[in-house]
Amino acid sequence: MANTTAALDALLMQRSLTDAQLLAAAESAADFRILPDASVIKIGGQSVIDRGRAAVYPLVDEIVAARKAHKLLIGTGAGTRARHLYSIAAGLGLPAGVLSQLGASVADQNAAMLGQLLAKYGVSAVNGAALSAVPLYLAEVNAVIFSGMPPYNVWMRPAPEGVIPPYRTDAGCFLVAEQFGCKAMIFVKDENGLYTANPKTAKDAKFIPKISVDEMKAQGLHDSILEFPMLDLLKAARHVREVQVVNGLVPGNLTRALAGEHVGTIITAS
Ligand code: ADP
Ligand code: MG
Repeated sequence: MANTTAALDALLMQRSLTDAQLLAAAESAADFRILPDASVIKIGGQSVIDRGRAAVYPLVDEIVAARKAHKLLIGTGAGTRARHLYSIAAGLGLPAGVLSQLGASVADQNAAMLGQLLAKYGVSAVNGAALSAVPLYLAEVNAVIFSGMPPYNVWMRPAPEGVIPPYRTDAGCFLVAEQFGCKAMIFVKDENGLYTANPKTAKDAKFIPKISVDEMKAQGLHDSILEFPMLDLLKAARHVREVQVVNGLVPGNLTRALAGEHVGTIITAS
């Protein structure tokens, strides 16, 4: 189709940017994967980093070993300190965009700490995951750390109800994986994966090794182990069509998941 660009150009000059024919023409080129060999891992805030040394040191060891064989984009969650900030700020009547900035500052703190632990291996924390230096870090030392909160700040799209920012660090890390066309997205948390109910409070909860976004919604599990707006991002994804949630408190799980093994819950787009 030699005239595709010209046809798209004509449509873009004349039509609404959400015109159906224009959107179809804009799809005519194949999707391009920017970092197809990299894997994104999210280190949970409340579930992992807030547990301190006992949880974090073994993961640091696994990351150091794993980056010999894998290119790693390591995103951080926020956790309990962010929840404390949200409670104060919400009580003060502040809006979602302000809470988004507050949450981001905590994910930044976690990225800074992880960066210090990995510094002697040459692994750095960067400001803003999409900055142009990321490919260089990956090429040089196979790993880079970023703060998981998406930088929507005051432009955060508010949830239909309340002031808690709906797109937090699960969504931020997933979007990095999807936009870069990465190989895998692994969420490192403190449970083996998804259960039929929260295993922290429901003793009879059953483990679910694999499930689709639609099945999760049908079973009322959309608001559970991942931020629920992330499920819609996964469903509409072009590159990252499944994610795995693994228990980072079990040594070896992250390494096995990076090797493509099924060790936790795999959530599929379709
Ligand atoms: P992060 O630290 O990455 O933000 P979260 O603490 O937000 O992770 O999410 C993980 C938590 O989700 C688990 O510790 C678990 O208590 C909770 N959870 C709620 N419902 C479920 C469920 N159905 N299956 C597994 N975990 C669940
Ligand atoms: Mg969370």
